[in-house]
Amino acid sequence: MTDVLEPAATRTINGTCHHDCPDSCGWIVTVEDRPAGPVAVKLRGNPDHPYSAGELCPKVNRFLDRVYSPDRLLHPMRRVGPKGAGEFEQISWDDALTEIATNLHRVIREHGPEAVLPYSDAGNQSMLALMGLSGRFFGHMGATKLDRNICGVTVGAGMAKTVGSPRGIDPMQHLHSKLLILWGTNTRLTNRHLWPTIEAARANGARLVVIDPIRTVTADAIDETRGCHPAAPRHRHRHDSRDDARTDP
Ligand code: SF4
Repeated sequence: MTDVLEPAATRTINGTCHHDCPDSCGWIVTVEDRPAGPVAVKLRGNPDHPYSAGELCPKVNRFLDRVYSPDRLLHPMRRVGPKGAGEFEQISWDDALTEIATNLHRVIREHGPEAVLPYSDAGNQSMLALMGLSGRFFGHMGATKLDRNICGVTVGAGMAKTVGSPRGIDPMQHLHSKLLILWGTNTRLTNRHLWPTIEAARANGARLVVIDPIRTVTADAIDETRGCHPAAPRHRHRHDSRDDARTDP
C-alpha cells in the first residue's frame, strides 16, 4: 500500500524585518504546518508597507536559506585547536555556561571586575536583545561600562552638528522638499527604499544635488553633481566628479 501524503496546511503571517535597519520592512511569510512543526517556506515583502512597498533588500531576499541552512550554528562549540584553525567540538549548554562562569570568576579574582568588558548592541532589536537582562548581569558584576554603540551616537552627533538636532524627519516627508542634497551617500544603491520618495519629490519639482568624491549610480541619475576631493572639498566644485577622483592630487 502506498502512503498518500496530505498536502501540508499553509498560512501566511505578517511580520516586520528584525534587522537593525530603519526601513523596518513589512514581511509576509508563508508557513507550512508539518508534522514536525511549522516551517516557513516563502518570504516576501508586504506591498501594503508604505515605505518599502513590498521590496525587501538583497540581504533579506534569501533569508529563509540562512534560517534553515545546515551550516547554521545551533549548539555551543568549544575551540580545540589553535586560533584560526577552525577546529571546534560541540559541547552541552551546561558545559558552556560552566566554562564561561569559571573564566569570568578567574578574571575577576585576578584582575578585578572592570577587566570584563561586555560588548553588544541592538542585535535583532528585540527588547531582550537591546535592553534586556545583560545590563543587570554585568552591572551587578561591576564590569566596565561601555556605550556599546558604534553607529547611532556618531549619527546623532553628526545630525546635531549639521541640522541642530539628532532627530531626523520621517523620510517619506522628503516628498515635500524643494532641495535635496545627498552628501557622500550612494542612496540609489544602498538606501533603495528612500529612492522612490526622492524620485517623487523630483517629479514635484525638487532639485537634487549629489556631493561625492566618486561617480556613483546615484550621481548618474541626477540633475547636478558636485564632485569633491576628500582631502580638500572646499576647492572642488565640478560637474564631473569622475574627473576629480582621477586627477586631483
Ligand atoms: S532594507 Fe533589508 S534589512 Fe532593512 S528592514 Fe528592509 S529587509 Fe530588513
